[in-house]
Amino acid sequence: MNIRLAAPLQKNSIVDGEGIRAVIWTQGCIHDCPGCHNPETHDMSGGVVVDVEELKQQIKSLSEEVGVTFSGGDPFCQMVECTELAKYCHKCGLNVWCYTGYTYEKLMTMAKTNKDVLPFLKEIDVLVDGPFIMKERSFDVKFRGSKNQRIIDVPKSLKTGKVVEIKQYQYKERKAPEKKETNIYI
Ligand code: SF4
Repeated sequence: MNIRLAAPLQKNSIVDGEGIRAVIWTQGCIHDCPGCHNPETHDMSGGVVVDVEELKQQIKSLSEEVGVTFSGGDPFCQMVECTELAKYCHKCGLNVWCYTGYTYEKLMTMAKTNKDVLPFLKEIDVLVDGPFIMKERSFDVKFRGSKNQRIIDVPKSLKTGKVVEIKQYQYKERKAPEKKETNIYI
């Protein structure tokens, strides 16, 4: 089985999820978000074709990393291949984060007609969902580019049937600092 990648396996990332992580940069994305940072990853026939078994060997040899992040591109454009790799990550004791331009709700709708969606979701521990939206762009949110994107506990969401965001990363609108009364005595 082959997977199309935008870049070789990246090691030692500290910005693509919790802890030191390896990143699988998948090639291909249909969302075309204005302002996307990785437009070269959109072309479905771009990047390089890599043997999944070869990638597994690279995952097996990771030593510093606590987990693997699937990013891109959109990993949900290559669900079967990503499921196989995510399963292997778990077998190696590595947790799995995944970025997608789909919302969790959209994925659940897709799952009704596409048998590949749920098996992949079941191998994801944390999903960062939704498209990048330029007017929602924020430097206040960790591990994502815009405020609409959520960091979701997938096992809990699947169990309860509703989106369960990881509390510490939930975006809360910041209140403007209250104006302090200043007493000026003249
Ligand atoms: S989903 Fe991600 S890779 Fe795809 S267009 Fe949007 S920001 Fe770019």
